[in-house]
Amino acid sequence: MRTTRTPHLCLNCNEALTGTELYYSVNRLGHPLCPSCQQELKSKLEHTSRETVKLYFLLKQKGIAVELEKDDHYTTADISIVSAKVNIEVSRPQTNYNRCEALADLKRTYYSFEKGYYTLRIPNALVAYDQDDAVSFIEEFLQVSCQPQSYYHC
Ligand SMILES: [Zn+2]
Repeated sequence: MRTTRTPHLCLNCNEALTGTELYYSVNRLGHPLCPSCQQELKSKLEHTSRETVKLYFLLKQKGIAVELEKDDHYTTADISIVSAKVNIEVSRPQTNYNRCEALADLKRTYYSFEKGYYTLRIPNALVAYDQDDAVSFIEEFLQVSCQPQSYYHC
């Protein structure tokens, strides 16, 4: 009797992966990605926090059109949901937070706000330890953001 194995899928686009692609991608980038998505995300994955990447893939798996490290020439958002005009910043530990970093955060929030984007700040500890609640709440947040009466509606 022959058993059918469920193919491993690319975490970013859901394409089926060969065994070689899976092995290479997980060992090199830490995530199962097809060659095209490896190429697209490689540099971003290397420079983005583990929690940001984890949240990106969790939201992507929920079918949300998220972009990782979206650069709009003035600022870079950790995760951006253009259709909802929401940027997500995954907060790093505050132990070395200084005046310059705090002001840079405020400026990024301001420039995004100027373009009609709301910045949602998610503590990285929440992503690390309570990812299901974090994702559920973000989904609710996006639903409210897309309601017609919302200032930020889609
Ligand atoms: Zn892919």
